[in-house]
Amino acid sequence: MKSRKKESLVVAALAAAVLAVAATLALPSHGQSGASPAARQASQEVARTADATKAADANKPATDATTNAATRANATAATSTTNAAAASSASAVAFADAARQNAALRDSLDWVFGGKQQRGWTIYEPLIARTVAAQAASESNDFALAVSRWQSSFGLQPSGVLDRDSWMRLVAEWQSRRLKDHTYPSPDQLVTVSSSEFYDTARPAQLRQVERTTYAAYRRMIAAAVADKSLGLRADADGSLAADEKFLKIVSAFRPKEYQDQLRRQQPEAGRAALAVNSPHFTGRALDLYVGGYDPVSTKDDNRALQTQTKVYQWLVKNAESFGFRPYYYEPWHWEYVGN
Ligand SMILES: [Zn+2]
Repeated sequence: MKSRKKESLVVAALAAAVLAVAATLALPSHGQSGASPAARQASQEVARTADATKAADANKPATDATTNAATRANATAATSTTNAAAASSASAVAFADAARQNAALRDSLDWVFGGKQQRGWTIYEPLIARTVAAQAASESNDFALAVSRWQSSFGLQPSGVLDRDSWMRLVAEWQSRRLKDHTYPSPDQLVTVSSSEFYDTARPAQLRQVERTTYAAYRRMIAAAVADKSLGLRADADGSLAADEKFLKIVSAFRPKEYQDQLRRQQPEAGRAALAVNSPHFTGRALDLYVGGYDPVSTKDDNRALQTQTKVYQWLVKNAESFGFRPYYYEPWHWEYVGN
């Protein structure tokens, strides 16, 4: 009884996969935006299979509560396995059109951030891959499949296409995870960090302060980065970054309000960050770290593209969160300590 039920589940899932493949072959690609018909069809078929399974399970007479629960657990496991297998085999063809659209959109999608026109999402690929749990390059079918799963979990059409709606949803998600507590620290909450830990060793003591728990977390993170030999960071015997190592040194930390006011008076033409009236740097919990590029803190696209390709940046994307740091997606160097 149980094995026959499993067999019928497998048959149903395979049928769904075959239907999805058939749909792809029957429907030519027109490069339209939104869900490709094949992808839509595949996910609908998989969903239908799951529904049929649920219905079959519900109709089963309840003889013994324990047995029933165990059977249900087994059936669910079998369903998710067969569904995953069906989705994966269908993805190779079902998401081919989505993959083609992603390959174009990554360099061409028009969007606006901070009142400024932006183009494409290539710069953000390491962050995107982390968030949607993609293991493959952004032009691949597997990447589109990962995007579609992420879209499903956010109630979006699971097209696999990182179009404007999905992209803006991703940006909103990253922004929502940033530091929310903007309390100005009292002097005893700040520590003055040695100039050797700064990118600019001539930085005055007033600008070398960091909020205490943030600094402790930064030190733990540096120790882990140094221990990861794949990054090739030069370190001293005590495990701290060597004097001639630039990567992960602090570019900027706590900014006293007086300093920001002074900056605003001296440089009326300075960028948005310098003029910010409520910068996270007022908290002492935001750190600008050196992650490469021709300028440590320039938002020019070509500079950020260099930064997000460095091993160190990509290590931060994967590991900073476990030390309590979250990214500001637009500035690869800017990390905020929110704790664990
Ligand atoms: Zn910053």
